[in-house]
Amino acid sequence: MLLVTFRDEDPTRIGVLDRRKDEVVDLSRAANGLPRSLLELIATGDTALEIVRRAVESGAGRRPLTGLTLLAPIPRPARNILCIGKNYREHAHEVQSLPSGGGKGEDIIPAHPIVFTKAANTVIGLGETIPAHLDPTGSVDYEGELAVVIGRGGRGISRVDAMSHVYGYTILNDVTSRRLQRRHQQWFIGKSLDGFCPMGPALLTADDVSEVGELRVRTRVNGEPRQEGLLADLIFDIPCLIETLSATMTLEPGEIIATGTPAGVGMGFKPPRFLQSGDVVAVNIEPIGTLENPVG
Ligand code: MG
Repeated sequence: MLLVTFRDEDPTRIGVLDRRKDEVVDLSRAANGLPRSLLELIATGDTALEIVRRAVESGAGRRPLTGLTLLAPIPRPARNILCIGKNYREHAHEVQSLPSGGGKGEDIIPAHPIVFTKAANTVIGLGETIPAHLDPTGSVDYEGELAVVIGRGGRGISRVDAMSHVYGYTILNDVTSRRLQRRHQQWFIGKSLDGFCPMGPALLTADDVSEVGELRVRTRVNGEPRQEGLLADLIFDIPCLIETLSATMTLEPGEIIATGTPAGVGMGFKPPRFLQSGDVVAVNIEPIGTLENPVG
């Protein structure tokens, strides 16, 4: 199922997107007693998801997608988004080959996952403008990524059990100011400008993904293909990321882990091709959909 957060003239609530019919099952109408946010739905676990399934089957509460505004599935995460750096080989190489890319004897392929975070209040939804003008250095770049959403939380999760803790998947654009990222050494500031985390359009529940390695991330800028990566090519796969993170911290329901971006980022071009006002960035992962955002 494709879970969505949406609003119209009424308050924000949750639903299930039917892409084939361009309809949304409004769960506030189709079922009783369900929470109004995906964070709460995720926290209530499998029982609530079963109610959602039955609501969809009942045919009640269907509404045309037109007239509704889809927000990010989790518009305000409970804490910072956990992000993984240099998790595709070709991307690690393209970054390393830059004058600023490190060099100095660093290993090109990291021996352990590189973990950083993005501020929780950076999230925007489908169609919202990426405020590139907020970057005083004019070096805004895209990073199309698959994001994992944790269902059952935990600490010390083994890689064998890891996938049973995954609630689902969404698309995330880890928008970055490259010069701020570099200038301040620590990546947080260059990754956490307001609005620098488009997410959506939906959260695909894990039961609809038979093999996550077969998912493919594609990023286009103004229709031009820039990135393409297969999840099977991650250096550190999803079970490894969950095992690594939960070894030191308790993962909570609704936790978001951005798995890293494939080669083809703007800074990899010579000269770099940073985002400009008027551009449109689209990150596609089927069967989740396309996360498209204008740049302003
Ligand atoms: Mg990234």
